[in-house]
Amino acid sequence: MGGLAWLGSAAKKSAMAPPSSGPDLTRSKALFRKAKRLIPGGVNSPVRAFGSVGGTPPFIASGKGAHITDVDGNRYLDYVGSWGPLVLGHADPGVLRAVKKAASAGTSFGAPTEAEVEIAELLCKAVPSLQQVRFVSSGTEATMSAIRLARGATGRKKILKFAGCYHGHSDALLVGAGSGVATLGIPGSPGVPEEFVKLTIQAPFNDLSAVAAAFKHHGEELACVLVEPIAGNMGMVAPTPGFLQCLRELCDRHGALLIFDEVMTGFRVAWGGAQCLYKVKPDLTTFGKVIGGGLPAAAYGGRRELMAEIAPVGPVYQAGTLSGNPLAMAAGLETLRRMAEPGTYEALGEKTRVLSEGLAARAEAADLEFTTTAIGGMFGFFFHPGPVRNFEDAKKAHEGRFQRFFQTMLAQGVYLAPSPYEAGFVSLSHRARDLKKTLQSAGIAFEQAARVR
Ligand SMILES: *Cc1c(COP(=O)(O)O)cnc(C)c1O
Repeated sequence: MGGLAWLGSAAKKSAMAPPSSGPDLTRSKALFRKAKRLIPGGVNSPVRAFGSVGGTPPFIASGKGAHITDVDGNRYLDYVGSWGPLVLGHADPGVLRAVKKAASAGTSFGAPTEAEVEIAELLCKAVPSLQQVRFVSSGTEATMSAIRLARGATGRKKILKFAGCYHGHSDALLVGAGSGVATLGIPGSPGVPEEFVKLTIQAPFNDLSAVAAAFKHHGEELACVLVEPIAGNMGMVAPTPGFLQCLRELCDRHGALLIFDEVMTGFRVAWGGAQCLYKVKPDLTTFGKVIGGGLPAAAYGGRRELMAEIAPVGPVYQAGTLSGNPLAMAAGLETLRRMAEPGTYEALGEKTRVLSEGLAARAEAADLEFTTTAIGGMFGFFFHPGPVRNFEDAKKAHEGRFQRFFQTMLAQGVYLAPSPYEAGFVSLSHRARDLKKTLQSAGIAFEQAARVR
């Protein structure tokens, strides 16, 4: 969540028009003022500050199913779902039971527990490319560790990533949108020395000729190619047919490892993740979000002989005080077991399809240039006629229309991600009448958006 893309839009706040008839946010406003004194920007992750849409972020007091309620008592239909983890919805009774049971047995031991073994077994059964997994506490950590492993295992230094893909905030991966073919990395944040990212090569997503050129230049030095198999941090952008297969072939030919960052897509777009959908087997995979069921858990994994490079078996060091935390394991295990039940992904996919197709129809009725994508429980849209294949395309979408659309939806009680560069998430607890209400609101919000030139 919250890739670097928000930086660009936070800088130009022109067309924002927080509506006069929005929800009463008196208590949120007071809290936000106080929070801004005590916490940078008042938030603990940048996109939460509403920088690219303007206005005050509602401070959330509680959630139940598909809804959240803020500290002023306003209720919203939620399509953020904590940025992806809550595929069952908020405060799911089964997840709560599992977490309470785990908590009453002790919250952390820093020693092995049975739940870790169970969830590891479940993941390895569900994902054909996994024989072993290591649990960590965040997606950032999972991806950072997978790259360390790829470098350790290959003895190579360079990595290839795609512009607009977000892999957490570790130094080597905070590389801004580079231009042209496979340029050397330029740091995307002060505090990241140039020297730290000069081993990070970038290419545009879905651009096979740029990837081929990068391999031609750097192929024998590349430890790995790191990719979100379905990009979800530049808005949602699906891979073009053959893109992932071609990455697999190039990696094989040049002895580089292929890493799928499935922190967002894992158990969100399909059982086992995007690799099961597209039938491409990466060497290493990172997971997060859904596998923690709303608590801090993430993982990286792959073939046994590769994972054998990790300490204590091998020399590549990685550790964590709260890794495999019992509460997080309990929440993740319950979430995954429920998602393993027959028909869940069909039901989730159907809800998301109804939403996405309904949005497209209403945007067309309002005569707007608009494009939308939906896979499993993940969707995205751009105020742009499409196709949107990469970050450059995504940045051409109409920001002012997004802002007006977002604010009008919020005023009607529909909570979308407060940035045009974020994906949306549907949960199993979104009901038909919730989707209907969303589409009614969208009809009004599209009319508002169409007024922004
Ligand atoms: C969210 C996300 C991350 C980072 O995970 P955190 O738990 O926020 O550190 C990494 N990669 C992808 C694809 C993500 O969507």
